[in-house]
Amino acid sequence: MIVNKISELIKLDVSRDQYPQNITDESFYGFPSQPILAAEEKLYKKESPSIAYFSMEYGLAPSIYHEFKSVTPLDKRNIITDHEVFSNIKDMDYYHFIPTQKILDLPIYSGGLGVLAGDTLKSAADRNTSLVGLGILWSKGYFKQKFWFRYGGQWPEEISWDPNSYPGLVPLQPKISIPLSGTELHLKLWKYYVYSHDLKNVIPLVLMDVEIEENPEYLRELTHQLYRSVNPWIKIAQRMILGIGGIRALDALGYSIDKYHLNEGHAALAFIEKAAREKPEELKKIFNFTCHTPVEAGHDRFHFPELEGALGKEKTDLVRQFGQDEKQPNTANFTLLAMNTSAHVNGVAAQHGKVMHLQFPHHRDKIQSITNGVHSHTWMSKTINDLLLKYRREIGDFLSDPTLLANVQKLKNITAFREDLWQAHLANKKVLTDFLKFWFFKPETFTLGWARRIAIYKRPGLLFQDINQLVSLAKDKGGLQIVIAGKAHPEDTPASMHMDEILNQINLLNGEMKYLRVCFLENYDTYFAKLLTSSVDVWLNNPLPPFEASGTSGMKAILNGVVQLSTLDGWIVEAVNKGIGKIFGFEASLDNLGKETDWHLKDDSAALYAALGELMSLYNQALRGQRGPGESAWIDMMINGLAAGGYFNTDRMVREYREKIWKDLQI
Ligand SMILES: *Cc1c(COP(=O)(O)O)cnc(C)c1O
Repeated sequence: MIVNKISELIKLDVSRDQYPQNITDESFYGFPSQPILAAEEKLYKKESPSIAYFSMEYGLAPSIYHEFKSVTPLDKRNIITDHEVFSNIKDMDYYHFIPTQKILDLPIYSGGLGVLAGDTLKSAADRNTSLVGLGILWSKGYFKQKFWFRYGGQWPEEISWDPNSYPGLVPLQPKISIPLSGTELHLKLWKYYVYSHDLKNVIPLVLMDVEIEENPEYLRELTHQLYRSVNPWIKIAQRMILGIGGIRALDALGYSIDKYHLNEGHAALAFIEKAAREKPEELKKIFNFTCHTPVEAGHDRFHFPELEGALGKEKTDLVRQFGQDEKQPNTANFTLLAMNTSAHVNGVAAQHGKVMHLQFPHHRDKIQSITNGVHSHTWMSKTINDLLLKYRREIGDFLSDPTLLANVQKLKNITAFREDLWQAHLANKKVLTDFLKFWFFKPETFTLGWARRIAIYKRPGLLFQDINQLVSLAKDKGGLQIVIAGKAHPEDTPASMHMDEILNQINLLNGEMKYLRVCFLENYDTYFAKLLTSSVDVWLNNPLPPFEASGTSGMKAILNGVVQLSTLDGWIVEAVNKGIGKIFGFEASLDNLGKETDWHLKDDSAALYAALGELMSLYNQALRGQRGPGESAWIDMMINGLAAGGYFNTDRMVREYREKIWKDLQI
């Protein structure tokens, strides 16, 4: 058993011998150890102000950003080797998979919220912020999607992965417990370090897990699968693990915390845990809350008797005091609870801030908006990054300061840059078309991408409303290739039906493969998010306004010069005058939020086909060689997108959090 300084600081459980091989005072799974020493020391010290950030999910994307190196080869369970495809060229689906030899994403996220939390930690590390993340180790992940055409579209499989051999994930020696329904629930703690892009700083992420011997079998299920239970007792227990467990984990690790930040209302019980011991009025000054959804169903609600059964009387009384639902008095509303107990509250885009003002008029004064972003070092492809480095003199050091990407505008009239950008994009596109070569995808053909959670308000089927129109567009404009990906939440029956309907539409296009090729990729994850957002010509985003709080996948796409085709919703509202693509369809009025069930499918699909046709024509001009200054609106849009990336990134976002929310901290 080797005990070194760093293992002590990490509070590593050294009873297992595989960890010391990978962890020395110089190296942590192939990365420098020094930043870990510095980060841990700051978190222990009272004098240095620190933030605890709580999130139910984290998408860290190790296959595309700073993959740790282990001395032992990756366990088979932690590798993904292939993805199936559902296409309109059916024969190929049976014989071919997309081959990938990549590390499984740390399977503790479901979609955009988790990816945002991951990108936030990365940018906090880039800015050397003293911050610790708290989350849950989901021992069976979210789910692995298998296609199941005509039976709900997909079948959700459990993910069997191995935390014990996952590179960079280490068990800690302190153990904690929380009271739950009259018994003690024991929690094991893990750590995962999120490195800054230049490897100079890290953020520790502490993950909690109940899959341990001390707990009876029925309790161990509580941290099996993210968002999979509809049972209120299980949901409450999971929120207790995150909120109450999170506070106890910070104490057990000896961290000195000055501010608490709740990413969504899931962790609202963190305040309750502290309020049972400290004055609520004082605590309210140090709690902050980011709300991520204007969709009502996204706000957690629990009946008080159920809550009391799990949480006990004293804490339930506190929840009643701060989080009673305004319309249903026998119900606790965790969004309100978080809002009532926080000094600062924010929505995640300018429009979302306004929607929140309408939804929560009593809290108007403390609701701000801080627009989401993406971590540019994770989401910009190497090809584009290398191209911009070549023009570093004009752009500036965009690696340390992504806002400098705005300077890409200066290159707009330089013919050589425009040509280089086009070639870089074609090189990215070739990676995708090589993956899909058995489905006859070609680098020259116009390619459209749509990938995100299959949720009804995102209108995944809009593109297939009128397949005849789609086919004629493809015939008239030199061919069309479409790539789709996304998981439907397994308990979301309408979304699953949608998923099946899309597969059905693709199936109906079987005879049209000469002009129109459609591939739905199974099991969407961050690896595919990066592949698609960096390689297609146009990124389609068609949520029903105003229900998309922000959306982030389009921000990944602009960092790669991919043109946008979008409804006017979320972050796009702030980019509408930037010339990054085409905006179409229904526009929400903020006087009246409208109904989530009024989908505008007919009008909006017609508007979508019209806008798509225009974009295809512009693309074809560029393809034919019209790419110079003043002669290609297409290249202009690519450049405008890259320049807008200077704003829509998490470096700018974290800076805004520091200035507007964590402001009285000297950090
Ligand atoms: C970025 C990302 C999302 C978010 O996509 P939106 O368009 O913002 O909904 C979802 N899933 C994965 C895997 C992502 O990488």
